[in-house]
Amino acid sequence: MSKKIQIAVVGGGAAGFFAAIHASGPESEVHLFEKSSKLLSKVKISGGGRCNVTHRPMETSSLVKNYPRGEKFLRKVFPSFTSRDTMDWFESRGVPLKIESDGRVFPVSDNSQSIIDALIKEADRLKVNIHLRSGIDRLEINDSGQFMLTLGQEKRIFDRLIVCSGGFPKRSGFEFLDSTGHQVVDPIPSLFTFNTPGQAIRELMGVAFPDGQVKLAGTKLSYRGPILITHWGLSGPAVLKLSAFGAKWLFKQQYQAEALINWNAAFGEEEYRSHLKDYGLKHPRRQALKHPLFEVPARFWEHLCEIAEIKEGQIHAELSKKQINRLVQNLFCYNLPIHGKTTFKEEFVTSGGISLDGIEPTKMESKYHPNLFFAGEVLDIDGITGGFNFQAAWSTGYLAGKAAKHHT
Ligand SMILES: Cc1cc2nc3c(=O)[nH]c(=O)nc-3n(C[C@H](O)[C@H](O)[C@H](O)COP(=O)(O)OP(=O)(O)OC[C@H]3O[C@@H](n4cnc5c(N)ncnc54)[C@H](O)[C@@H]3O)c2cc1C
Repeated sequence: MSKKIQIAVVGGGAAGFFAAIHASGPESEVHLFEKSSKLLSKVKISGGGRCNVTHRPMETSSLVKNYPRGEKFLRKVFPSFTSRDTMDWFESRGVPLKIESDGRVFPVSDNSQSIIDALIKEADRLKVNIHLRSGIDRLEINDSGQFMLTLGQEKRIFDRLIVCSGGFPKRSGFEFLDSTGHQVVDPIPSLFTFNTPGQAIRELMGVAFPDGQVKLAGTKLSYRGPILITHWGLSGPAVLKLSAFGAKWLFKQQYQAEALINWNAAFGEEEYRSHLKDYGLKHPRRQALKHPLFEVPARFWEHLCEIAEIKEGQIHAELSKKQINRLVQNLFCYNLPIHGKTTFKEEFVTSGGISLDGIEPTKMESKYHPNLFFAGEVLDIDGITGGFNFQAAWSTGYLAGKAAKHHT
């Protein structure tokens, strides 16, 4: 019997498990090395403990738009393993999934453990050798193109290597990969909320706007979606999306910026103005403060009236031009200074990582070293919140695993 191909997978997260599972087969022996004492620890805490495993199935051309970094590269990745495939994969392994109204996909159990159990069970069935507390300290490539891994005092040699070591907040986290010659794009945070210290608006924490638009002043970056006022500032999907697409710009500005907010994106500036005028003509004797308009929450409407210096009891017919202008200005383009950011607890990622220039996207193989593969967040790929980060991990893990098994 010929010797089995020895495949090592570095990292026991989502990408590492998917790569190891798909690298398994009668001709390969797969070893997965995880430096910590726990497997799939990010899956466990993901999506607030529910694991937003992917996003509603969609065309590749739409799916890739959710990745501030990696869009072009993923156009060649996703056709091989889509969000539909992710759903089928888990459901056929006994994990029923549900699609929520905003497109996020969760296990019906609302418990990330269901996802973990399915992955571990499959890896066991395929006889993946799992090594916990086995951090790879060093990686060398010998003259015959094999991979020598150093784990503490031990050295092990493999024919093929799949690196799925995840993102690191600092460049030093990638140092063990320096010998591969792959370039690393400096890591910076993505997916965070905005701090607005000292702003009166924070008194309104908990107030939500289902369809707003947030823009970063001085840029073309502008995103529509739900907005939430928190006790430290601004959050919600529109803000998180802006933080992801604006991650590099905001990092350069050291998170000092100005958000311009339209609280109901169904209205433009002129529409706000004309609706206010019509309302005033129809209901001249109604008290402005008591009748919130444009579907904004009553507490927020009172805040806008306060800025416009509209007094208790003042009726629409008595509103001055200046007061109307102020209302319109703050409904359409509320200016909120941002000073700093806060980690979004339900999901966060680092942008940056191994540069995509050195990777062949249909196999996830290194362009510099045959038999070396990368998958998951270790790459310079990151998505917005909504299941897109896991989808990138499943798709790249699948491709890397398959290619490592079949590669000649
Ligand atoms: C709180 C939180 C919630 C999230 N929720 C969601 C969500 O609901 N939906 C979504 O799509 N995304 C979510 N994400 C993002 C998602 O978890 C990651 O994008 C995804 O886990 C990346 O998978 P990975 O396998 O590439 O990396 P990781 O999950 O980070 O796994 C990498 C593994 O490699 C190990 N490792 C590193 N270096 C070495 C080494 N030298 N030797 C051996 N092992 C090593 C690490 O210990 C780690 O276990 C969330 C992230 C966080 C932090």
